[in-house]
Amino acid sequence: MFERTIRSVTLYFEREGLGRILSRITRIRRVNEESFHDVRNRSIGLNPADTKKPWAAFHRRPYLLIHEIGHHFAEVVLTRGDRKRFVGLFGDYDAPYRRAPKPRVADADHVSRYAMTHPAEDFAETFAVCLWRSWEPDAVDRLLSGKSAQCRRKVSTVRHLLDSVKSPVPAAPIRASPRRAQKAGRA
Ligand SMILES: [Zn+2]
Repeated sequence: MFERTIRSVTLYFEREGLGRILSRITRIRRVNEESFHDVRNRSIGLNPADTKKPWAAFHRRPYLLIHEIGHHFAEVVLTRGDRKRFVGLFGDYDAPYRRAPKPRVADADHVSRYAMTHPAEDFAETFAVCLWRSWEPDAVDRLLSGKSAQCRRKVSTVRHLLDSVKSPVPAAPIRASPRRAQKAGRA
């Protein structure tokens, strides 16, 4: 039931040259508990009901998956040293995971209410909003236009981090001409 979401998000990452980020995820599955990224076995669980909760920046299934990929990116692709470098902007991603209560509205420094519950959620939400611009550009621009310079700095920090792991999109394989194929068949 998440197949379409997984396929479209995977294709999107590959098209953007960001396929490497997904390469170490072992499994993405549907769960009944809250959606998660489990760093111990590098798996992702998705609960479709989480898209109904009002506190993330967007409420679509691909967004939910990209949010969890944001945790994977921070915890598996980046190192603890990398994460330390943006403590000043996001707070300490590695601080003990105790979520603060969700405020009634998001402030100008955060993309969503959920982003205000813990630095790890701030990072994952910012990551998801940054990439969501490819999916709903107008909505993302609208959201960010009401945000502070610090919030926009977080988004551009994520953008730079993503650019640093980008690999060129591989060109389509060149097909062997029939003659060459024939030759190969004989050898
Ligand atoms: Zn999260």
